[in-house]
Amino acid sequence: MTTLEDCRALDAQDPLRAMRDLFDLPKGVIYLDGNSLGALPKATAARVAQTVTAEWGQELIRAWNSAGWVHAPQQLGNRIAKLIGAGAGEVVATDTASINLYKVLSAAMHISAADAPGRKRVVSERNNFPTDLYIAESLCRERGFELVLVEPEEVDAAIDDRLAILMLTHVNYRTGAMHDMAAVTAKAHAASALTVWDLCHSVGAVPVDLTGAKADFSIGCTYKYLNGGPGAPAFVWVNPKHTDRFWQPLSGWFGHAAPFEFTPDYRPASGIGRYLCGTQSAIAMAALDCGLQPFEATEPMGGMAALRRKSLALTDLYIRLVEERCADAGFGLATPRDHAKRGSQVCLTRTEGAYAIVQALIARGVIGDFRAGDGKKHLDILRFGFTPLYVGFEDVWHAVEHLREVMASGEWRRPEFNQKNAVT
Ligand SMILES: *Cc1c(COP(=O)(O)O)cnc(C)c1O
Repeated sequence: MTTLEDCRALDAQDPLRAMRDLFDLPKGVIYLDGNSLGALPKATAARVAQTVTAEWGQELIRAWNSAGWVHAPQQLGNRIAKLIGAGAGEVVATDTASINLYKVLSAAMHISAADAPGRKRVVSERNNFPTDLYIAESLCRERGFELVLVEPEEVDAAIDDRLAILMLTHVNYRTGAMHDMAAVTAKAHAASALTVWDLCHSVGAVPVDLTGAKADFSIGCTYKYLNGGPGAPAFVWVNPKHTDRFWQPLSGWFGHAAPFEFTPDYRPASGIGRYLCGTQSAIAMAALDCGLQPFEATEPMGGMAALRRKSLALTDLYIRLVEERCADAGFGLATPRDHAKRGSQVCLTRTEGAYAIVQALIARGVIGDFRAGDGKKHLDILRFGFTPLYVGFEDVWHAVEHLREVMASGEWRRPEFNQKNAVT
């Protein structure tokens, strides 16, 4: 049996332990929802204040040049690129994940029509994050494509000579299951199809190698594991072999080759700059800068490889402790045990009471979240994200102890835990 002392010993040996000091976390809170909204880096408040008072307040319009606001999407993009195996000049930070998905899926449809004419099928997973499916649904309708949704285990079989674009989320938001990006991409390419990868639950959570996998398009958000703040700018990557082939559909002036020439006609920038659209929030970009700094601080300890080792150790420990200490509480496990197939979260399933159990944990300061229905199996999900930058092994112990107490006492049955909020 694993003990509290074992967990403390793991913390003592943890090379990333000091990273937690880079974050402002409320006292008494064990935060297991960094996969939904990352924690606040200590540097952010002062940096945002400086952007507002010194840059905006004193520099006014000059700050676009003097404070470098105009280059922030590219500069932040270059730093994100290092976390996802992309090259310099291949990523921009901009807009939202949903909007960026619209841009890349549209470009992928154009390229597919040119290179594999007649193919009209876009395949994704039925349990993909809904916004991805909604964006795909509308684009397919507009462009005469057919959206086919399959179960995760059916993806392989759906790769055939009818497939134009395979649009997948690398790590599933609901289960934490991870695809083998290189293998799936190779299979899609062998069938002359293109791949679009959503990295919302991967970037900053697991090592990603877009270049090595020869992926075609990718997008992701930065307010989850990258700690960019609520509504932080998302990012977009396009394989350089595709970037200049087509306009993305949101041909705004920031994607123009020379926006400040104010010409009446659109001439797209060469390179990833054409994936910009309009003016971005300089304040949000400043916050994202601070979100990326802790990742750069881990570089001497091994960067993403070290974060991944700790992430797997945390999720392994959580699974083991739940099985040892909450064995009779009726939980199933939706997250794969196989390390190669697991993101940085653990999802427990339950036939009843999942929402109330999560609420009871939150009342005790253990913040995870609830996601309804595991598709056809009708199992609700209790979702816990383990962000190795600021979650420790002792936190895992206490999180499981709270869960054990909530179940053993029946506390979760209280009426106040059974009323649903707007955001779950
Ligand atoms: C969080 C998430 C999004 C969010 O999209 P926004 O446009 O930032 O709201 C999209 N896709 C996936 C897979 C996500 O996990």
